[in-house]
Amino acid sequence: MAEKRDYYEVLGVAKSATAEEIKKAYRKKAIQYHPDKWSTASEQEKKDAEEKFKEAAEAYDVLSDENKRARYDQFGHQGLGGPGGGGYSYNGSMDDILSHLNDLFGGFGGFGGGSIFDSFFGGGGSSYGESSAPRRVGGNLRMNVKLTLNDIANGCDKKLKYTRYVACQHCNGTGAKDGNAFSTCTTCKGKGRVMHAQRTMFGGVQQVISTCPDCEGEGKRITTKCPHCNGEGIVRKEEITTVHIPAGVVGGMQMPIEGKGNAPRRGGEYGDLYLFFSEEKHPDFERRGNDIVYNLLLDYPTAALGGTVEIPTLDGTAKIKIEPGTQPGKRYGLRGKGLPTYNRHGLGSLVVNVSVYIPEKLSRDEKQRIEAMRDMNDIKPTAEAKARVWEQSKNIFEI
Ligand SMILES: [Zn+2]
Ligand SMILES: [Zn+2]
Repeated sequence: MAEKRDYYEVLGVAKSATAEEIKKAYRKKAIQYHPDKWSTASEQEKKDAEEKFKEAAEAYDVLSDENKRARYDQFGHQGLGGPGGGGYSYNGSMDDILSHLNDLFGGFGGFGGGSIFDSFFGGGGSSYGESSAPRRVGGNLRMNVKLTLNDIANGCDKKLKYTRYVACQHCNGTGAKDGNAFSTCTTCKGKGRVMHAQRTMFGGVQQVISTCPDCEGEGKRITTKCPHCNGEGIVRKEEITTVHIPAGVVGGMQMPIEGKGNAPRRGGEYGDLYLFFSEEKHPDFERRGNDIVYNLLLDYPTAALGGTVEIPTLDGTAKIKIEPGTQPGKRYGLRGKGLPTYNRHGLGSLVVNVSVYIPEKLSRDEKQRIEAMRDMNDIKPTAEAKARVWEQSKNIFEI
């Protein structure tokens, strides 16, 4: 088993954190790794998220308990006992953790959905308002979006086609026939919560309030299922939606589209659709941050005699004046011809990197002409030129 991580590190808080800070940090982790958020991720991602989720629950379990925290602070993981002195291990199941979370934070509906990524995109602050009734949030969806450098340079509108769960219209997402075939839940007598005894780590018994398992906290049960969604309250639907992708995004960035994910079963908030960006390779350019690099392969006479060449840019073409005696490794920077920065003004540069083409196939006549050049006085590199070109070529790696 892997080395146990430090509980403070798991929650991302300082050793001196207050109970409130610890609670806040736990809530943040819980949102981040909440199973609902990962319902459409790959199996591996789901597994990783679940591990992190459990790890956070364990850390919170210890750090929120004054006694356990004191022992942990003094003796580390060893101080918490456990079989063979190997440290503490939280044995709550996912369901336990989820129900505990609901009790602690009053469900996840109050989180404002998708707020974890808001800071990434400079969005508004997250709303941490607590709600008393558990509210369900539908799963998030993810979608890969390929962008060309032109898309990134100018921003673009992408038409997305995907399938998601939406609330069934016939029952208004409730799952009950016509939206009203309900009766009061007998297990919790309509309260939505039940008390039950739970054994603690140290052999004691404590009363725990959790969400009613029979009505999932609703306080009512469906008497007749909606025939259109078979009582689920959701149906599959193909969506076509156009989203604007701002200029300057970077491959690997994610963008949440709020409310465009799945509807949860039997009512609640929609999840989000996360767009994952990747960049398509451009035939002419390579991206380096906000700069784009173009490799200009000059023919030998132009490099030697100078001239004007036309190069492609993201929005057309540009002309560059080549000085006589231009060496491979020479670089031109065209300011403002690169990419914009996300959420900021300013453009990168188009960096033109010069190489000189040495002919590979020559006719007999051409060979003779070049042969004649061999003995020319000025065709041999001087020591000074060697040093200069060496310096230049080193810069190629420092764009
Ligand atoms: Zn229905
Ligand atoms: Zn109930």
